[in-house]
Amino acid sequence: AQHFLQRAKAQQALGAFLALDEDITLAQAQAQDAALAAGQAGPLAGVPIGHKDVFVTRDFPTTASSRMLAGYRSPFDATVVTRLAEAGCVTLGKLSCDEFAMGNGNESAAIAPVGMDAPAPVRNPWDTQRVPGGSSGGSAAAVAARMVAAATGTDTGGSIRQPASFCGITGIKPTYGRASRYGMIAYASSLDQAGPMAHSAEDCALLLSVMCGPDTERDATSLDVPAENFTRQLGDSIEGLRIGVPAQFFADGLADDVRTAIDAALKEYEKLGATLVPVQLPRTQLSVPAYYIISPAEASSNLSRFDGVRYGHRTANPVDLQDLYKKSRAEAFGDEVQRRIMIGAYVLSEGYYDAYYLQAQKIRRLIANDFQAAFKDCDVIAGPVAPSVAWQLGDKADPLASYLADVFTLPASLAGLPAMSLPVGWGAHQMPVGLQLIGNYLQEGRLLNVAHRFQ
Ligand code: GLN
Repeated sequence: AQHFLQRAKAQQALGAFLALDEDITLAQAQAQDAALAAGQAGPLAGVPIGHKDVFVTRDFPTTASSRMLAGYRSPFDATVVTRLAEAGCVTLGKLSCDEFAMGNGNESAAIAPVGMDAPAPVRNPWDTQRVPGGSSGGSAAAVAARMVAAATGTDTGGSIRQPASFCGITGIKPTYGRASRYGMIAYASSLDQAGPMAHSAEDCALLLSVMCGPDTERDATSLDVPAENFTRQLGDSIEGLRIGVPAQFFADGLADDVRTAIDAALKEYEKLGATLVPVQLPRTQLSVPAYYIISPAEASSNLSRFDGVRYGHRTANPVDLQDLYKKSRAEAFGDEVQRRIMIGAYVLSEGYYDAYYLQAQKIRRLIANDFQAAFKDCDVIAGPVAPSVAWQLGDKADPLASYLADVFTLPASLAGLPAMSLPVGWGAHQMPVGLQLIGNYLQEGRLLNVAHRFQ
């Protein structure tokens, strides 16, 4: 813990941590030493980790990188936080993300990182002029720069996979419902999932085994499927594995450097005994408009709880209750969050609901069906995580350009399928490239096995 704390402090300029507390971390580490000495250590005793700042924690402030929650302290821990602590993990602190997990560059955090006096973007450890990806950019940067051994992230439309890809680490989003959402600040509830980000598939398997499992009393969408030991399948051979390669993931818009690295990785899989099978995911492009209607719709509803009364920021001198709501929200939500709330309220409003929200839900169903058709011919699906390597800070200031960069991660999110990113090579500017693997429901063990064979 001391070693990692030192590294975290030495690399504050990356802006990854929003909260560190040496006393709490060292006390937790000492408790783990005692547990080890007493022969009562959990499976992850002493493993130093960080949590994305959308998981509520009692020991550290929780802000979702928003001014709305500056200084907020939760009276309880998220289920994922509790489970990792019970397994013996030691928490270093809380990690920056895009505000309320909305974004893919980690440039929208509105809370000052540790060691800085103003909000700042997280920087990619491989090139500090580039983004680490998002929204779990702090988690990815902290793992890549070895400030923690592993971190938690959340993935609504790619926020574990894309930063993992941009920072050259491994991350997995399990099947929707596998990991409890209790205590995870909600963005789009029908899509949000927690998952681990670490150096390898093996590390991810160790963490995911602890993070998953039913929590049906606290999370109405928690799957009643027993926790699994995801390390068990790691050693399995992949001889004869059928890897589906969707034509639509290699269409125009995919940068040549990424395509080259992904093609090389797929060749490597053939050498390991797998067969490549062309498959079709014909509605891949439609995942962008569908997702950017459904997720803001849910966000507009979820974020209505931040009203200046119950939590967080309250405006100074309201003239009446309406004014209190309006000013508190206008002052504390950043531009992207406000944009999404407005889009969401619009697509849910009378007269537009059928035209937008209902259509988007139908497309979502068709996308899920397309995957089931593809899985008739293959065991896992592989392709790029993102159309390019990590871009320069400020390069995706146009929201539409940023939304389009999510095209390869959104389909699996809309379908609720498990999906992961593993580092497979290097693209332009010597930046990492991640391969995305998508599995059928509850096939996390298989995905981690396939990733592990490569590593
Ligand atoms: N980039 C997507 C968005 O902004 C995904 C974010 C996420 O997965 N949390 O909504």
